[in-house]
Amino acid sequence: MSLASGRPYLAIPGPSVIPDRVLRAMHRGSPNIYEGPLIEMVASLWPDLRMVAGTTGHVAMYIGNGHGGWEAANANLFSRGEKALVLATGRFGLSWAESARAMGIEVEVLDFGRSSPVDFDRVEAALRDDAGHRIKAVLTTHVDTASSIKTDIPALRAAMDAAGHPALLAVDCIASLGCDEFRMDDWGVDVMVAACQKGLMTPPGLAFVWFSETARLRCGHSDLATPYWAWGPRAQPEDFWQHWDGTAPTNHLYGLREALDMLREEGMPQVWHRHHTLARTVWAAFDAWGAGNPQIGLNVADPVHRGWSVTAARFGAPHATRLREWCETRAGVTLGIGLGMAASTEPAYHGFLRVGHMGHVNAHMTLGALAVMEAGLVALDIPHGVGALAAAAGVIARNA
Ligand SMILES: *Cc1c(COP(=O)(O)O)cnc(C)c1O
Repeated sequence: MSLASGRPYLAIPGPSVIPDRVLRAMHRGSPNIYEGPLIEMVASLWPDLRMVAGTTGHVAMYIGNGHGGWEAANANLFSRGEKALVLATGRFGLSWAESARAMGIEVEVLDFGRSSPVDFDRVEAALRDDAGHRIKAVLTTHVDTASSIKTDIPALRAAMDAAGHPALLAVDCIASLGCDEFRMDDWGVDVMVAACQKGLMTPPGLAFVWFSETARLRCGHSDLATPYWAWGPRAQPEDFWQHWDGTAPTNHLYGLREALDMLREEGMPQVWHRHHTLARTVWAAFDAWGAGNPQIGLNVADPVHRGWSVTAARFGAPHATRLREWCETRAGVTLGIGLGMAASTEPAYHGFLRVGHMGHVNAHMTLGALAVMEAGLVALDIPHGVGALAAAAGVIARNA
């Protein structure tokens, strides 16, 4: 008998839970886009968008999703035939590389697999090999949402500096912004990409590219930056409409305003602490379930290399799919599918899942999801270790 009736919980790694405050802020008729309150409200967004990214640099906003954000970054960073070095730690890094290649950019990929962090010695060696400095930018994910591997961005910057290479550093923070600590300026990041539907708690539809003054000066003449994608007029428009090269995404902007208010009220260090704690809660449960049960485990062995917004894990095929279905239909919790670990046509695909813990999520939501998973493991007779919920609760007790 299903117990799913009630408020459902979408615990997938994006789109994330939309706060009621954001939904209410969006629930209004179309505002005037030529003068009045919308114009003033939008002016208030830019300082806060810089604040969440940790930058005093430029920010361009696009009507688009994360893939749109990638293309926006590609279009401004590169001219046709220029070269990118892409560091891939999962499906999303590879996809960014594909999008760049499809636009006519020459792409070299360093693929670190699905469970290992970036090896900075390999990055440094690749940059040293590029004696002619053909590589214009290094592209990487901060947190790859498929593998949940986190890249140590300050260490990457250090490797680039050690190689004495002038390449720009561009980071995809789509999964991590507003969840995992990120400091664009302090960490020497030139370009950063994000979208609104994950840590920024707003329905899909807005993409962002932050860029440093260095990047602006080095990328002023990209021949891929067609009028819609060029970041210059968006970041420094003469007229309001140029922020989006057309009609503003009116209601999304009101939602974003409210979401940024929520982040401001909580404070970024606290937002990061909350996500780190909830991530460790999930990890503690998996450690207990997996004790003596090697088919259950986290994708990333070392906690230092795990993102704080999403956790990729395995339960052994077909148990991950069975568990996901049970949690959704019996208890109202939707977990994420495994991505990039096995093709959806392979039996192994049914051994992977992901738990999203990004954005508008708190202790009771995460503990609730874990308790439902525990119930599912019991109901489905999936062998697992004991003590997961006590371990998870212990993390909350020690850090709340
Ligand atoms: C979600 C995500 C994307 C893709 O975003 P879409 O909105 O689905 O286009 C890209 N990179 C990362 C790291 C993501 O988490």
